[in-house]
This record gives sequence, C-alpha cells and structure tokens, in this order.
Amino acid sequence: MADTFDRAGCLIDGDWFVPAGPVIEVIDPFTESVMGEVVDAGSEVVDDAVRSAAAAHPAWRRTDVAERAELLDRAADLLTRDGSAIAALVSREMGMPISLAEVTQAQLPADVLRATARTARDFPWSQDIDGATLVRRGSGVVGAITPWNMPVHQIVAKVSAALAAGSTVVLKASEMTPYDANALAALFLEAGFPAGVFNVVTGTGAVTGAALAAHPGLAHVSFTGSVVAGRTVASLAAQTLTRCTLELGGKSPAVVLPDADLETALTGVVTSGLVNSGQACNATTRLLIPEHLAADSVDIIEDAVAQQVLGNPADPRTRQGPLVSARQRERVLDHIGDAVAAGGHLLTGTGKPSEASPTGYFVDPTVITGLPEDARAIREEIFGPVIAVQIYTDVDDAVRIANDCAYGLSAEVWSGDVERARAVAGRLDVGQVKINGVRTRNRPTVPFGGVKNSGYGRELGHLGIEEFTDVTAVMS
Ligand code: NAD
Repeated sequence: MADTFDRAGCLIDGDWFVPAGPVIEVIDPFTESVMGEVVDAGSEVVDDAVRSAAAAHPAWRRTDVAERAELLDRAADLLTRDGSAIAALVSREMGMPISLAEVTQAQLPADVLRATARTARDFPWSQDIDGATLVRRGSGVVGAITPWNMPVHQIVAKVSAALAAGSTVVLKASEMTPYDANALAALFLEAGFPAGVFNVVTGTGAVTGAALAAHPGLAHVSFTGSVVAGRTVASLAAQTLTRCTLELGGKSPAVVLPDADLETALTGVVTSGLVNSGQACNATTRLLIPEHLAADSVDIIEDAVAQQVLGNPADPRTRQGPLVSARQRERVLDHIGDAVAAGGHLLTGTGKPSEASPTGYFVDPTVITGLPEDARAIREEIFGPVIAVQIYTDVDDAVRIANDCAYGLSAEVWSGDVERARAVAGRLDVGQVKINGVRTRNRPTVPFGGVKNSGYGRELGHLGIEEFTDVTAVMS
C-alpha cells in the first residue's frame, strides 16, 4: 500500500473530481503521520450532488427490482474480490486490527449487499389491504452521513437499502475515513449503477454534512454518528420536513445471569466490549454481574483482558489497535480519570497513554469496578476500551440497572437457559438483544437501531428497505 494517497475525491453524476476548498489532513493513527488529505467540499458541491441524484431518481425508481438486486449482487462480488485491499485501507485510516477489518469491513458488507438484494426481491412492493393497493416506491434522494468507526459497513448498511428501494444517494462519509468511501463508490460504478444514482461528497460534518442535512432536495437523511451531531442533523432536516433515520451511540449492558457459564460469559463480554478498541456503537461497555459471583469474576476478567494483544493494526495477531485520533485518546483518558475521581477502581488499565507501542494513540484495555450509578463512566458513551462493572442483587435489579440509561441501542444476556435469557431480553429497553454471544455481524437481515438517545429508525433487512420508501394507497 502507498505511504500517502492523493486527495480523496467527490463523485457526481459519474464523474470524479477533487473540489476546491479547505484541506483536512487524514492521519494514520498508528504511525501518527499524514496519509492523505480531503477537501471540505461545501454547499455548492452538495447542491450539485443532490441535483445529480434528483435527476437520476425518476428512471432509477422505475427500474425493475430484479435489476436493482442484480446490481447489488454484482457490487457484493466486487467487494469480495477487493475485500482484502479495502480492509487494509480501513485498518490504515482508523487503526482497526486487520483481522477484524477483513471480517467487518469486507465480508460483512458483502453479506449485507447480498442479503439486501435477497430481501428486495421478496419485499412487498405492492400489497392489497381493505380494497386498496399499497404501492411502495423509493422516496427520492437520500442524504447518507456516516462515521469512521466501522466505515464500510456503515455506508453499505444504508446505501444498499436506499438503492434497493429505488432511492438515489448522496453520501458524506467521515472526513477521517474518506478513502474507503471512494473505493466503495468506485466498485458501485464498476458494478454498473447508473451515473447519478450514487454520489459522494467529501468534507467535515459542520460544513458539508450540515449543508447536506439541510438541503431541501432530500427526501430522507440517514445519519449514523454521535448524539450531539444527530440532534443537529435532525433539527436541520426538520426545517424542510425531511424524514430522518438516526443511528446514534450506545452504552450497552451485558447481563450475566446467575446460571450462565461464568468464564464463557465474561470472556465473551470483555471481547465484545473491547472490540475495535471499544469504538463500536454496540460495544458491551457495562458488565452486569450478580453480587455473589463478583469475587469469582475478577480473575476471569483479568485473564480475558490479558488476551488483548495491542500493536500494529496491520499485524494479523493484533487484537487491539490504536484509537482513531489523539483527541479521542484524550477524551477516553479524561473519562478514566473522572471515573477514578468518582471512586472507581481500575481492575485493569492505567489511565495513562499505553506503553504498548512507541507510536499510535493507544489506551490499555480498562475495566473499572466500584463506580456509583451516577458516575459519568456509567452514564456516558466513552467510545474507547473501557468497561464498567455493575453489581446487581437479583434479576429485577439487573433489569433496572440495564434500563437506567439514556441510550437504548443493544444489550447482551448470558444464561444457561435460553428461555430464561429471552424472558430477561424482553424486558430490556433496547433495539437489539443478543443471547449468549450471538453476533450482529452474523445476522445481516436482522434490523439494527435504537430507542431513546440511540436514535430512531432501523437499518438492515425488510425494515431497512422500508425506511427509504413512500407508500401510495390506490383505491378504486
Ligand atoms: P460524529 O457524530 O462526530 O460524526 C458522524 C458523521 O457525521 C461524520 O460524517 C461527521 O462528519 C458528520 N457530522 C458531524 N457533525 C455534523 C453536523 N453538524 N451536521 C452534519 N453532519 C455532521 O460521530 P463519529 O465520531 O464519526 O462516530 C462515533 C459516533 O457514532 C459514536 O457516538 C457512535 O456510537 C456512533 N455510531 C452509531 C452507530 C449506530 O448504528 N447506532 C454505528 C456506529 C457509530
């Protein structure tokens, strides 16, 4: 792979170009050196991109669904062909361990493209209800705004559904990970999506993202990112009454029930809490343990944390890479310091920059016990390798603690009895509950999304496609 890259480009109406405007450096978080640049394209470029997508929409939504599904399948095949290169690109841009990137940024998005194609073929585009025919069609231009932490998957989750629905897209990916978005858009063009159906603009959230969210030509804004930015996006979109999907943050609880296999459960939760250095919206960052098992849990948690190998994300043995930026490391260390000041005990981790590597924005995996329920580290999303342990007295107490949270994205329940786990799962105020370590990435048609501050709307599967359609009821 090249040491440095040309400036990332915009794609409008099938043509690539680098816009004029303020330049932002793209930093490799492992070497801490500049790997490329991206331009804050601004509102005029956004306007051109929306116009291109609007012009392409009427013909695109008239295409047969079989044709749209076929193109998604072709894009999946191309992503499989180029998967290793794209995974390496993501790993370089934001520090994801290459082994994780291969699975989540190549294999998973290819699976999602194929699953969306299948779902589109079976989708109820026309339904008869009470003497009316409900006709569903792609709603128009979708503004897609995505983050850096699982960048290819997050783009594909929305773009595949929008395109399957017969909508057209303007994507603004994170300014920290513009190159994988460029690579993916090139694959969509190669697959044969017509010019203007999928457009890309580059730039910051505050300028280019905000211009997209506010654009009156959109039918829908689909946003994945932080709560703060999500609120801004929703309020900008509200000015033109544009519909929104908001996939926001999380503070996901993992409830280990008393009858769970303790070692399997704790090891599983530590692994999913620290995945991608904890930079995953559904990372299990609150570990709920029954009081009588607290003492027995300590050694198991320490052993599980010791299995995290920190290092060069390009090395297949690495389990934990650097955080995405110096700023993110500072934020995470600030959270840990605050937790200690609030009375928390660091079971693992130091609260200082990790010494695992001479360069790179590393933080050691950190497990904190003894925090009061109102501590920031219990309440706020940290987005780093930090897990807070919470002790419960009985199952009702576990449910209370799990639900006592401003977020509601996802949760885990661990038990020796799946039915018992399902009963607890049904009481949790979240969009998705995983029992005994099942993984979101192995279920590419199961809807994903949150309640409360984790947002609204769903991605993936039938509901993911429905999000980007309008219904017309025709009666005779
Ligand atoms: P972020 O909110 O800073 O940025 C996300 C995207 O929004 C970027 O493209 C950014 O440029 C853009 N943006 C920022 N401010 C904007 C504004 N005012 N107007 C328009 N666009 C704007 O988030 P991030 O740091 O890139 O990502 C981390 C966050 O994303 C975490 O909170 C994480 O939980 C969340 N996330 C949620 C999901 C989910 O599916 N629920 C998945 C992954 C990440």
